[in-house]
Amino acid sequence: MNAGINSPFSVVVLIPLYNEEKNVAAISEAISKVFGTVANAEYKILFVDDGSKDATLDVIKQLAAVDENVAYINFSKNFGKEAAMLAGFQNIPSTIDAVITIDADMQHPPSLIPTLIKHWQAGNDVVYTYREKSNEHVSFFAKTSSKMFYWVMSKLADVELENGIADFKIFDRKVLAVIKEMKEDAPFFRGLFKWVGFKQLGIPYRVEARLNGETKYPTKALVKIALHNITSFSTKPLTMAIYVGFFTSFISILYVPYVLYSLYQGMAISGWASIIATIAFFGGVQLMVLGIIGLYLGKIFMQSKQRPRYIVNEIKALF
Ligand code: UDP
Ligand code: MG
Repeated sequence: MNAGINSPFSVVVLIPLYNEEKNVAAISEAISKVFGTVANAEYKILFVDDGSKDATLDVIKQLAAVDENVAYINFSKNFGKEAAMLAGFQNIPSTIDAVITIDADMQHPPSLIPTLIKHWQAGNDVVYTYREKSNEHVSFFAKTSSKMFYWVMSKLADVELENGIADFKIFDRKVLAVIKEMKEDAPFFRGLFKWVGFKQLGIPYRVEARLNGETKYPTKALVKIALHNITSFSTKPLTMAIYVGFFTSFISILYVPYVLYSLYQGMAISGWASIIATIAFFGGVQLMVLGIIGLYLGKIFMQSKQRPRYIVNEIKALF
C-alpha cells in the first residue's frame, strides 16, 4: 500500500559499498540534505559494506556513532553487489513503507530522490531509473556494450530491460516482501525487479562522474557478467542450441547432391580443405553448445549446495 501524498511514511536508503571510504561522507550528507526537503518522510540509511579492504567500515561506524539514522551491515569478505543488496533487503523490517537503492559513488544523483518518492506516492510500486541517452560520463565502448547486453537480454529473457537501466530505484514494501524471499543463488536484481511485475515506472537520469575511487566493473568483466545474467534469467540459449543443430544438419544435407553429382561425373572430390573446414566448424559449434549446457549445469551445481549467499560479520540493526 502506498503512503498517499500527505501521510507520514518511512523509507530506508540502501547503499552497497565496496572500497568506498572516500565516498561515504558525501553520499550520506547528500541524502540527509535531500530528505530535509521531502515532507513527512522518516528516513534511515542502511550501508552494506561488502567486505571492503579499505577504511569504509570505520568511516561508516564513525558516522553511525553520531547519527541515529545510520545503520550498517558488514560482510566477512567481498560477496558482490547483488549479495550486498540482498542482505540489505533481508534486514529491512516489513514495517518500512518504501526502499531506495543507490550507489555509493554519487553516480546516481541523490537530487532525483524527491522525484522517485513523488512517483511512488502517486501509486507506482517500483520507480526505476535508466541512463539518459546522451551521457558524457559513460565511454563509447561502455555505451555500446551495454546496449548490446540489454538488447540480447530483452530478446532472450522474458523481461524487458531498458538500455542503461540502473540499480537506482524506489520500491514499495509489498515488492520488498517478494524480493527478499527470492531463493536464487546468484540473483540479478535489475532483471528480478522487472520480473515481479506490479505497477512500474521508469524515469531517465543523468549519470554523474564517479566522485572518488574506481569502478569495480571493468569492461573486460562485462562479458562474463552478461553471460551469467542471461543464463540466470532464461533457458532460451538451450532452445537456440537445438535450432543451431537443426540448421547445421540441414546445411550438411544440401551437400549430398553435390557429392552424388561429382560421383556421377566420375570426379574424385579433392577434399582436404573442405573436410578440415567442416570439422573445425562443427567442432566449434559443438564446443559452444557444450559451453552453454555447462553454464546451466554450473548454476544447478551452485544452487544445489545451498551455501549462504553472504556472511555477516558485524551489524548495527535499523531499529
Ligand atoms: N559494489 C559492491 N560490491 C562489489 C562491487 C561494487 O557493493 O563487489 C558497490 C560499489 O561500492 C558501488 C556500487 O556497487 O556503490 C556500484 O559499483 P561501481 O560504481 O563500481 O559500478 P559502476 O557504476 O561502474 O557500474
Ligand atoms: Mg559507479
